[in-house]
Amino acid sequence: MIPFNRPPCLGTELEYIRQVLESRKLCGDGPFTKNCHQWFEENTDTSRALLTTSCTHALEMAAILVDIKPGDEVIMPSYTFVSTANAFVLRGAKIVFVDIRPDTMNIDENLIEDAVTKRTKAIVVVHYAGVACEMDTILAIAHTYKLFVIEDAAQGIGAKYKSRSLGTVGNMGCYSFHETKNVSCGEGGALLIQDEELVERAEILREKGTNRSKFWRGQVDKYTWLDIGSSYLPSELNAAYLYAQLQSIDKINADRLKTWNRYYEGLKPLAEKGHIDLPHIPQECEHNTHIFYIKVKDIEERNKLIDYLNAASILSVFHYIPLHTSPAGKQFGRFQGIDRWTTKESERLLRLPMYYGMEEMDRETILNNIKAFFYGK
Ligand SMILES: *Cc1c(COP(=O)(O)O)cnc(C)c1O
Repeated sequence: MIPFNRPPCLGTELEYIRQVLESRKLCGDGPFTKNCHQWFEENTDTSRALLTTSCTHALEMAAILVDIKPGDEVIMPSYTFVSTANAFVLRGAKIVFVDIRPDTMNIDENLIEDAVTKRTKAIVVVHYAGVACEMDTILAIAHTYKLFVIEDAAQGIGAKYKSRSLGTVGNMGCYSFHETKNVSCGEGGALLIQDEELVERAEILREKGTNRSKFWRGQVDKYTWLDIGSSYLPSELNAAYLYAQLQSIDKINADRLKTWNRYYEGLKPLAEKGHIDLPHIPQECEHNTHIFYIKVKDIEERNKLIDYLNAASILSVFHYIPLHTSPAGKQFGRFQGIDRWTTKESERLLRLPMYYGMEEMDRETILNNIKAFFYGK
């Protein structure tokens, strides 16, 4: 079976984990967590990075930091993972879903202004497949209406918008290190903060509402409960594994790019004949090969292709069911304007296997099977 995903293992992970075990300190914010923080600060130009237990938790922290209150509205695409919305719903927000652009599957920046009301507090963008949203337009709208911009950059590590790392363009950005992402530690995430004035509170939220981070740095002589908060910091074991992966991110992404490019070249003839659509990368975006997707005619054709590939021992998957069509999405959100693309395009999209170290032979098997499906054997 050719799997859909296979988390990378570079070989240095075990050595780093051994160092943690020998140090006899496994809790969070040890040397490997600090190494990871420094890595983000040096490689992404973020003012501050904080490791979290997941991207979901980084988003929850962001929702608290922008002070979402019941009745506030938050604008986002409906074509995304549940956590993008859930983090804000937990604080009482009403979600206002906006349609996507069919070329990138990202929120349509030209529809955002129509969704702004007196209650709007933030715009949450999702950089689908590590391809950036049209951030200059979005930042201009946020500036006009005094809104926060939070980037769900779960899929975006290593990708750029006009030479700026995804996750550092808005006020805050959230990364995921779930095992399905380019760089992972099983479960993990990071919050990247650009507004210096949010950093102190972020440290407190992450440490159960206490100023323990300041205490460790020797800035206060005892720590105390100051604010709401939770336990959002990962163990050193996860940080050690993650650090090994971060150090090899160029190697991981370069290897994935070989697969991405081979898929693109190999499937071009099918696209030229009108059988499928291929991903589009706008000129100002440098993507990170997080996802390779194709779009077929409709949901029926997609189901047939999934079955066809499955019969050839190839695992392909689709996502997302648009949030505004789900029971919770209906309860907690509303769709602004018409759903011209979100449902239609989500039903056409199919993700092909994509992981570090894919064998050339497997790539060719996948391409040959897709061609056989459309041309007949
Ligand atoms: C993976 C993902 C998340 C959730 O990440 P976790 O680390 O599993 O919490 C959120 N948003 C998007 C767009 C994702 O792809």
